[in-house]
Amino acid sequence: MLWLGLAALVAFFAVPPMVALVESTVLRPGPRHVGFWALARVVAGTCHVPWGRRGSPVVRFPLPQGEGRARAVRLPGESGWVVEVRAYQTHPFGFAARISTPSRPPTRWRAPGLDVVELFPSETEHLQAASLESTDESLLRWLLRHAETRKRLDALHAEAGAEQVEVMFAGQVIALRGHAPDGWKAGEAMEHIGPALVEMLRALSADLGELALALRNVGDAALAGAVCPGCGAGTGVDPWACPGCGRLMHRGCREMLDGCAEARCRQAADALPTVDPGVTRAPAARS
Ligand SMILES: [Zn+2]
Ligand SMILES: [Zn+2]
Repeated sequence: MLWLGLAALVAFFAVPPMVALVESTVLRPGPRHVGFWALARVVAGTCHVPWGRRGSPVVRFPLPQGEGRARAVRLPGESGWVVEVRAYQTHPFGFAARISTPSRPPTRWRAPGLDVVELFPSETEHLQAASLESTDESLLRWLLRHAETRKRLDALHAEAGAEQVEVMFAGQVIALRGHAPDGWKAGEAMEHIGPALVEMLRALSADLGELALALRNVGDAALAGAVCPGCGAGTGVDPWACPGCGRLMHRGCREMLDGCAEARCRQAADALPTVDPGVTRAPAARS
């Protein structure tokens, strides 16, 4: 009995300092997060530690057409860190697409109707090493007709210094992924790959803000009704009801985004503990 009492006493005094020790070494911004803070400074954003849903600090920064977030992720089947920056656009642009440099086979999980797009001979001045897919070829071509954007997309792979660069458009989210070389630490990847991705994201956010405005002006019906926020098409095929905000999305679109497409939904891949959990209606519907 005495032993039990002693053990309880020891636990009483020893456990809180141990918890504090674990918190200070694991949950606080330490040297290994310096790269995240550096990126936050460069992009005039804030760094949130802890944590997104997957255990990376999240850098938040303003965009003229929405909210930007950056974090480091590990993708299934890949050994290195991936820097991912996202724009949650204020207004949906109504299609899904993916541009990978160097070119890659299509993803297993995809928005319905996401098909390979070949560049016209007149367009091959840029993006020759890239593979393109889109649910709406004409909207992707609209974007690529901006010579400046095409040129920047082409230069992004080299500028970011990443092994692989992926640009994903998903209804109202733009996600850029830079795959760091093996052996790089997460913070190092953020600091070196992050700035080029954020700069590209800003340009794409402005372009797609312009497209969203044009679509609203022509009264695109697809933007009004019950459409998937990940691709802008009707949700009849293989729907998934988000447990966070109740919105319907295609299962494939959810997998592409690794979560919900709503910035303020706790099911978003880079949701922060501080985001409003009580989102009940999509921002798109409020305009
Ligand atoms: Zn969809
Ligand atoms: Zn949601």
